[in-house]
This record gives sequence, structure tokens and C-alpha cells, in this order.
Amino acid sequence: MSDETSTPRPLKIAIVGAGPAGFYAAGQLLAATDVAAEVDLFDRLPTPYGLVRFGVAPDHPKIKSVIRVYERIAKKPGFRFFGGVEVGKDVSHEELAARHHAVIYTTGASHDRRLGIPGEDLPGSHPATDFVAWYNGHPDAADRTFDLTGRRAVVIGNGNVAVDVARMLALTVDELRETDTADHAIEALAASSIEEIVVLGRRGIAQAAFTNPELRELGEMADADVVVDPKDVDLDEGSKAWLERDGADVREQRNVEIATEYAGRTPEGKRRRVVLRFLASPVKILGDDKVTGIEVVKNELVADEDGWLSARATNETEVIDCDLVLRSIGYRGRPLPGVPFDDQRATINNLDGRVLDPETGEPVPGVYTAGWVKRGPSGVIGTNKKCAQDTVTQLLADLEAGALPEPTVAEDIADLVAERVPDHVDFAGWQRIDAHERALGEPQGRPRVKLTSVAEMLAVAHAAETETV
Ligand code: NAP
Repeated sequence: MSDETSTPRPLKIAIVGAGPAGFYAAGQLLAATDVAAEVDLFDRLPTPYGLVRFGVAPDHPKIKSVIRVYERIAKKPGFRFFGGVEVGKDVSHEELAARHHAVIYTTGASHDRRLGIPGEDLPGSHPATDFVAWYNGHPDAADRTFDLTGRRAVVIGNGNVAVDVARMLALTVDELRETDTADHAIEALAASSIEEIVVLGRRGIAQAAFTNPELRELGEMADADVVVDPKDVDLDEGSKAWLERDGADVREQRNVEIATEYAGRTPEGKRRRVVLRFLASPVKILGDDKVTGIEVVKNELVADEDGWLSARATNETEVIDCDLVLRSIGYRGRPLPGVPFDDQRATINNLDGRVLDPETGEPVPGVYTAGWVKRGPSGVIGTNKKCAQDTVTQLLADLEAGALPEPTVAEDIADLVAERVPDHVDFAGWQRIDAHERALGEPQGRPRVKLTSVAEMLAVAHAAETETV
């Protein structure tokens, strides 16, 4: 950093949203060698880690071990966690901006995209986002109910979330009991009558968004057969050309190989079946007072001049009888009061992480974004590291250029938070929740038993506050 900079040390940054992007941005700011940063990380829940806690499937504990990286960041001098504080409700954007040099929004994408078809809101038709939040013990979803008394579920979408929810419906209770799946979900899934889970893609296997390990896992389930119709791996000319193009994606080629192997299998008569179906789009969810089926139209693939294949509906329709529909067609970010939002893309208006004023197209001084709310719901957890780094690079360049606004209020934000949300949770409070959950899980051989109510979390976070954790 140049000596001419007039910004007083320390550089005070507020980050809103304690998921992967928020933690990576915090870590990068605190690791910057030529600036003494102080980072205040806010989350509306008392628990940090966002989708690592509430999105990653419970039977993927290795993916969750990334938390150790975030714990090291939280130990760095200059880091503070304000859990249970909702920006936009408990404190405003303006109040944060007045007390920091910059605010970075890393609020993710917690809402579902909609299909826009009749019957979408019938009881028994749910966004996968709700189902994921429910089995992961998100406090907002703890009292949701999913009717698992039918025989067939249809999962719409060909992404990794669709695979996660299909797998969760197909795991045995013994497999679930080794995980940190919320107790209410283990109980409901243990009583589930679902025998068949149909995963429906609007395009073909060669266009599916699944990553290879996730698709492979479907073929390795203890008590569920995976079923693929050989016709679906007999590719059309457009798909063959797409897979053989220059710079073809190896992931797509491998997906076809994995599905081809599945198509050659004879079902072993396991208790459940996961049926992968392709080239079909839902047009209507059927039922009077609850889901009884889904009408789908058969699609064909049409190529544009670059060979990119889209789905086009034919005249052929079919009804798949089912009792549960989980719509897994992508997530959406949510607007925040005082922060420019692009409703079409469901992301904060930004260029490379600098938030833009929609009227002028100019950067809003001192306001940044990273993660899914910046770029949309794509990539794996590690993708957010680079995404956050790009944003932090812009922020530090603006600091260097003297383009960051000075805080206008000298009062520590902690004082305002203490006044507005006296029972907010700091990192030591979260560590008490963490230790408590782990202790509950230990005798059962589980990583943790999650607390699913905010009241319980607060009680544990504030119990014995003087004890060291
Ligand atoms: P995604 O990967 O974007 O998949 C969305 C799927 O929905 C696509 O198959 C898409 O089909 C389909 N779709 C969209 N609109 C549709 C419509 N109107 N009708 C029918 N189908 C429709 O999204 P995601 O599964 O929510 O995953 C989000 C991100 O999280 C991804 O990057 C994913 O890899 C990541 N993730 C990773 C893991 C893991 O690493 N284990 C686990 C979960 C999630 P088209 O391709 O035709 O648009």
C-alpha cells in the first residue's frame, strides 16, 4: 500500500453473511500484509458457515471439514463474529456503512427458482431448498413437514442438489443415523414409504449438471438400485458432436460413461430405486388438494450455431403418478434493503464484486459483494475462495486509490449491536453451541446433533459465558 494513502489504520470492514464467501473474504483481508484490517462478520443466525452447515448433504462429512479453515480465520486478531444479527432489520446498511470503510455482502442464495407451472404450490410440491434446509436442521425449516407416505417421489432438475435430495430419500436409516441429519428428519425418513425416486432432466445425460462423484454415488447406495433406460444413453447426433467438440468437458463425457454403465445393470431388487429420466419437462403438477402426479412433456434437443443444445417440447405428454415433488432447478439470491439488486439475475448489481448503482452504472463507494449473491448459484465451496479474492482485490485497489469512504461515526458497531440485539452470539458463543452439539452426537457415534431452534442455540451460547471453551 502506498504511504500517501490517507486511510487511517485499522481498515474496518463489515461482512454480511457468514458462509464460505464471507469467511474467505475475511481471511483474505486479515492476511493482507500491508494493511491492518479489522473484520466484523454478521449472520442473521447464531451459527456461522452458511451452506456448509445448512446445504452440504449430511452424508458428505468430508466436504464439511472445510470448517477447520474458517475456524483458523476466526482466531485471527481483528476478527469478530456477530451471530443472530440481521442486517436490514436489527442494523441497517447505512449504520454499518457509517462505522466501517466498506461493507461486503456475502448473503448467498437461499431462495428457490420457480417453474411457473400450474399446481406448483399444491401440498406435496416443495422447493428442494426447503427439503435441504429441513434435513439439515435450519431453524427456519425445522417445523416443515414432508409427506413421505406415498410410493413415488419426483425430483425435478439434473444438478447436484437434485442428486443430494434423491440420495437423502434413498439412504437407509442406518446410513442416516451416522450423520448429522436433523433428528426430526431422521425420524420422518425412517418412516418413509417412498420406494421410487424419479430424477427428471429436461435435457439429456450429456447435458446434465451433475458432477461425476455425485452421479457415481447414486450407483453405490446400500439399499437403492439406480435405473437408467438404455435409450437415454444412446445419444443423438447433436449430443455426440457436443461431447467431441474441441475443448469438450471431461465431466460431461464421464457422466455419459457412468450412466451407460448404470443402463447395463440389472436391478438387484433393493428396497428403493433411483430412476434417472431425461428429455422431459414438467408442464403441470396434478392433484386437487395434494400432489397425485406430474404431467411431463417429452423434449427434443435443438442445437444453435455453436452446437449448444436446448430442450424443445414435442407434442408427446405423459403423466407420472407420484405423491411428492421436489423442485431442484436452482437457487436465487434475495434483495437486501439499501443494496442495489438485479431481480432478473437474482444477484446484487455488481461488476467484479464492486456494487453498482443501477441508475448511473457507477460503483457505490465502499460496497462490495462476493459468493452466490454476486455471481449466482454456481460452483463448489472452493469456487468462493477465488470469487472472494477477486472482490477483496478490488476493495484493496480502491483503498490504494483513496476511493473508500471514511467512517462517519466513531462509535463501535458492537455498542449498537449490544443495544439492539443484547443476546447476539459472538464466536465464543458459537463455540459453546458447537461443543454442545458435538457432545450430544458423541455417544451416538455421530459428528453432532444439531440444535434446530434459535432459542435453544441462544440458551447454550449464553450459558456459562464465563467458562472458557
Ligand atoms: P444447477 O447445477 O444449476 O442445476 C440446476 C438444474 O435445474 C439443471 O439441470 C437445469 O437444467 C435444471 N433446470 C433449470 N430450470 C429448469 C426448468 N425450468 N425445468 C427443468 N429443469 C430445469 O443447480 P443446483 O443443483 O441447485 O446446484 C447449485 C450449485 O451447487 C452447483 O454449482 C452445484 O454443483 C453445487 N452443489 C455441489 C454439490 C457437491 O459438490 N456435492 C452439492 C450440491 C450442490 P438445464 O441444464 O437444462 O438448465
